[in-house]
Amino acid sequence: MTRVGIPHGLFYYYYYPWWKTFFNYLGAEVVCSNPTTRLTVDQGIGAAVDEICFPLKVYFGHVLELKRYELDWIFIPRMVSVEHRSYICPKFMGLPDMIRASIPDLPPIIDITVDVSQSNRILKRDLLQLGKLFTSRESRIREAIKRAREEQNFCDTLASQGYTREEAIQLWEGKATHSFQAPILNLGVLGHGYSLYDAVINMNLINHLRNMGCRLWFPESLDADDVETSAATIPKRVFWTLGRKMVGSAIHLSQQPEIDGIIYLACFGCGPDSLIGEIIERQINDKPYMLLTVDEHSGETGMITRLEAFCDMLLRRKNTGNEDNISAHGQYAYCRQSTI
Ligand code: SF4
Repeated sequence: MTRVGIPHGLFYYYYYPWWKTFFNYLGAEVVCSNPTTRLTVDQGIGAAVDEICFPLKVYFGHVLELKRYELDWIFIPRMVSVEHRSYICPKFMGLPDMIRASIPDLPPIIDITVDVSQSNRILKRDLLQLGKLFTSRESRIREAIKRAREEQNFCDTLASQGYTREEAIQLWEGKATHSFQAPILNLGVLGHGYSLYDAVINMNLINHLRNMGCRLWFPESLDADDVETSAATIPKRVFWTLGRKMVGSAIHLSQQPEIDGIIYLACFGCGPDSLIGEIIERQINDKPYMLLTVDEHSGETGMITRLEAFCDMLLRRKNTGNEDNISAHGQYAYCRQSTI
């Protein structure tokens, strides 16, 4: 049986059910690398060029793991755009080439270009072409595409119920995952999915917050139309798909009374994050907001300290019901002083 490897990073978090269903239906076995470990990170750093961001370095580590397995193909799509008039970070465009140039002796790479910024037509044609690597029956390829879309929709529905995308994939694969408890705080937690839902890149951020009694709201937990409507309230449209989702989610969450605070996880070396984090900070005036930036040198202890301090501040604010003495937000402190 033909074996296709899929690295457990980057757009795995968004489209793994689609890809896996597609290849499986065409008779291929899908081999996914394991969830990120410290070894994945170290090996990725060793293989990647210094200039790229943390999640891309981790992705290199996943490809190196796959290289050890006997595979016929490795699937590394060239992601350009996943929706009309919007784009993915340009670093994704060169990813298959960067991997080829940095990691020798890999199995052949399937580097189909995903670009639906203008129309779906070319992608459909390329998928039919890709399917011919596995079968000559076009009807079977069309059916594989249809089933892949259905499975992806099902997994997206799971993710909308408060699970991280990684947990939604686990559930989709029939594995048990996290159960929810009554929360003492409601927090919006934002970031690119491949950093936010990777427990090593995010330094266990999600587990720590849940252990502190927080219910977490992710971009996928929100209604997509509400997110788009909120994102459209800023003067210039954000043309990065994920960036716009973050901005819209932050604005929408900031208008919900039950949300106590918002955390944005950024990666050091990420161009879009430096801009999106700043836009969010300027847009949400009514909620406490914390920007956390991680890289391969960050330590989990420092992360826990920041999270505990943030949650303590939110609980104090919630329990006293006002901000008479210590503002939870810089702008309020400034306004208060300026009117004295
Ligand atoms: S958006 Fe940022 S984190 Fe994502 S690939 Fe681009 S530079 Fe890296």
